Amino acid sequence: MKVVTVGTGMAAAEFVQRLRLEGFEGPITMVGDENYPPYSPCVIPFFLAGEPLDTVYWKGSDFYERYGVTSRLGSPVVSVDPERRLITTASGKSESYDRLFYATGAKSWYPNPEWLDTSGVFGFKTLTDMVAIDRYVLEHNVTRAVVFGGGFIGVDAALALWHRGLEITLVHRNTRVLSQMTDEDGGHFATDKLREKTGINIRLKATVDGITADHGQLTGVSFSDGGSMETTLLIIAIGVSPNSEAMTGQDKGVTVSPQMLADPTIYCAGDVAITPHLVTGKDGIYATYPNAMAQARTAARHLVQGDGEYAGSINTNVLKKHIDFPIVSAGSFSGEPVTWQQGDIWRRVYMVEGKISGYLIIGDTRMSGYIFQLYRSQKRVDMSIKTIISSPKHDGYYREMLRANMINS
Ligand SMILES: Cc1cc2nc3c(=O)[nH]c(=O)nc-3n(C[C@H](O)[C@H](O)[C@H](O)COP(=O)(O)OP(=O)(O)OC[C@H]3O[C@@H](n4cnc5c(N)ncnc54)[C@H](O)[C@@H]3O)c2cc1C
Repeated sequence: MKVVTVGTGMAAAEFVQRLRLEGFEGPITMVGDENYPPYSPCVIPFFLAGEPLDTVYWKGSDFYERYGVTSRLGSPVVSVDPERRLITTASGKSESYDRLFYATGAKSWYPNPEWLDTSGVFGFKTLTDMVAIDRYVLEHNVTRAVVFGGGFIGVDAALALWHRGLEITLVHRNTRVLSQMTDEDGGHFATDKLREKTGINIRLKATVDGITADHGQLTGVSFSDGGSMETTLLIIAIGVSPNSEAMTGQDKGVTVSPQMLADPTIYCAGDVAITPHLVTGKDGIYATYPNAMAQARTAARHLVQGDGEYAGSINTNVLKKHIDFPIVSAGSFSGEPVTWQQGDIWRRVYMVEGKISGYLIIGDTRMSGYIFQLYRSQKRVDMSIKTIISSPKHDGYYREMLRANMINS
């Protein structure tokens, strides 16, 4: 049986590694549009912040050789033909498969894609982006940058470049940064603290609505709330859409069965897959690394052993990079809020019928693993939740309590 993956990213690498660990000995081909061994997008900002390039190859830079994989790199796949079991790349080459693993992730979305033709304007999604930004910063001796987009990836970009020593302006259309992973109060708290701790100029309720260039080289940007700024580097990180066109003809994601099957011979996983939420059951794209890993393992197990089902995804967000000020959230911010705040630490848990429906923890996330377990298990914690969030102990302490069944409602 010949297995082909479309994508060489986190889900595809995990899938291939699991196939081999489960004893699959057949031929495997990985087809990817970039030219690198599998890397972790989660850590590529560290490369920009100064870490060696090698650290991004999270399963080793010799992955293809080690797992006996034929790689076809620099080959974007443009169509999948399930009837003929054939994929076709942009250059017109075809590859047949018995089983396909489709894990193409997501791509950056640009309001003005033509801006990318200007030297100094970049996306912030792939290793190709990071290598280009790194080279550009060095070659042009860049000391100041504008980051457009204050979501998870935009803040990651701003912090990585700030860590590298650049003066940063972060532009975000909402009233607070990280608006999708925070509630109103926590988001304002996080925004104020990030400003205070980094000196990053955070410009809210604004967008970048124009750029200026000289001979194709960026010279500045203008803002929707008036004013402009000279800069030779603009990072655009305002959103992503799933790379599902080759499968469905649209960029809305791919629906999968509990076995991660989109078709009897096609598995699909990661940031392109539509899966149910573990707690709420709501279908969606839950684009995080742990979900991608669990989905890839489910698919590999099913392919080799013919059993296993995906339990469901969780919408966790963990921002813990470049600065000692972590922010963690999960679930939905609805229900009765229980809040604790002291100095730089802010914790809020939302309760519905005595169970955690969502949480946001800022500044000291020591017990976030434990809160996550309580959320995931939907255990009743009405009586103890106030003590838990006001008592900054390590996860290990709570794990022991959980094992001894000492937490109750
Ligand atoms: C900057 C950044 C920071 C992040 N930080 C975190 C974090 O801290 N924690 C967390 O949980 N998640 C984080 N994420 C999200 C996480 O990286 C993804 O959830 C995870 O990589 C999903 O795995 P995937 O395999 O679906 O996608 P990817 O790892 O993105 O892999 C997709 C692969 O498909 C390839 N591809 C795309 N289109 C085609 C095509 N048409 N033909 C062939 N190949 C194609 C790509 O080149 C790539 O190899 C971050 C993402 C980014 C961009």
